[in-house]
Amino acid sequence: MDAKIQTVMRKIPSMDRLLALPWVAEYEEKLGRETVKFLLSEMLAALRAKIIKDADTAFDAETIEAEARALLQRKAAPGLRRVVNATGVVIHTNLGRSLLADEAVKEVCAVAGAYNTLEYSLDEGKRGNRNDHVEWLLCRLTGAEAALVVNNNAAAVILALSALAKDKESIVSRGELVEIGGSFRIPDIMALSGTKMVEIGTTNRTHLGDYEKAIGEECAMLLKIHPSNYRITGFHSAVPREELAELAHARGLILMEDLGSGMLIDASAAGLSSENDPTVAESLRAGCDIVTFSGDKLLGGPQIGAIVGKKELIARLKSHQLLRALRVDKMTLAAFEATLRLYLRGDYSAVPTVEMIFKKEDELRAAAMRFSRGLKNFFKKTRIRRFSIEAVPVKDTVGGGSFPQSELPGFAVALRLPEMGSAGKLAERLRSAASPVIAGAAEDRLLFHMRTLRPGDEKRIIAALDEILYMPAEKAH
Ligand SMILES: *Cc1c(COP(=O)(O)O)cnc(C)c1O
Repeated sequence: MDAKIQTVMRKIPSMDRLLALPWVAEYEEKLGRETVKFLLSEMLAALRAKIIKDADTAFDAETIEAEARALLQRKAAPGLRRVVNATGVVIHTNLGRSLLADEAVKEVCAVAGAYNTLEYSLDEGKRGNRNDHVEWLLCRLTGAEAALVVNNNAAAVILALSALAKDKESIVSRGELVEIGGSFRIPDIMALSGTKMVEIGTTNRTHLGDYEKAIGEECAMLLKIHPSNYRITGFHSAVPREELAELAHARGLILMEDLGSGMLIDASAAGLSSENDPTVAESLRAGCDIVTFSGDKLLGGPQIGAIVGKKELIARLKSHQLLRALRVDKMTLAAFEATLRLYLRGDYSAVPTVEMIFKKEDELRAAAMRFSRGLKNFFKKTRIRRFSIEAVPVKDTVGGGSFPQSELPGFAVALRLPEMGSAGKLAERLRSAASPVIAGAAEDRLLFHMRTLRPGDEKRIIAALDEILYMPAEKAH
């Protein structure tokens, strides 16, 4: 090591010096002394490595202490925590997709910390089946003969293909060979499940004759995939479910549909076209034998994969070894059962995802006006002199790969703070607040979409603004 590097290295504060700082005790209590030491030594090692690469790395004891404190503060706070979703995207996959209804949260709490009937029949005093709690509800709500739930919809598709079409051929239209959310790619999922994919048609058009021609000795199923957030527009055609069902059943094949979002109720009341998005019941009525869908997309429940359809096919899934690896936890089942019971009662507006999608434009406008006034009152009391606040019309989206072409007319509060740097920078600082806010940033303004705000979120946004406005300049950047 050359002399210059050695000199610089000597300026790094020692571990003992860091551990002696007055605020360290608080973190030792929260994280344990050994973990604090471990985190600080990692930080110091990274600094040393940087200096070896570049002896001119600038630092002083004070910035290292500040960095150490910020690191411990970050590690002491929960990583998975509540945020304010001001993006107007209702089913935001990165922000946890659907919010559970209050009743669902209550049922989760009731079973999470207590013994419960997960796999116990109170009538018989012996082992029960965890699927029974929700199967009859899914059947009631979709008209299916039988139902099964697994970890998520990806797992549902893998289990269904493995149990019903392994080592056989499955026919799928090229227009439906999609990739969903980065890691769910239909060809890969089919390969993983051991079914042989037979692609037919072209990207934009597939005809009944294409399916007919492709059916051979080895064929087990016709597979239909909801294209999620991908849409072919213009010159295109696909074969209606009814015709596919007729063909499949005449040839002794299974017709399976991966519906993705899986709505239980008609969304056309919210101005969303249901042409490409049938309800689960409609898909079954059209003749699909197996339908899979997510619990936490349009249905508005917990992360789960539901499989509904013909009794003898579901029975083959129920006895498949893979099910053991995909089974659902008690908290998820409690939340799902409670959510399905809301549908059973017709209490759709108690499901936050449904409530937010159906929110009326004038309701959102009134909420935006109210929040604008609240924000103005807040800014009048600050040292900020230049600000502009207005309620503006915006386009919200359903998200979660549902209704990609339907925009929901909404309202947002637009905030301009010309003295405070770019909107992007402000959005970044709002994310770092004690109660993080995820806002939209368009040109020079921040946008708080009203549709996805939950009770109390306006107060949280004002608290976050208060926090970042008074942040010392160096901490803010
Ligand atoms: C979202 C989606 C999936 C994956 O569902 P997860 O519940 O996220 O596992 C699969 N297929 C389609 C068509 C989807 O839209």
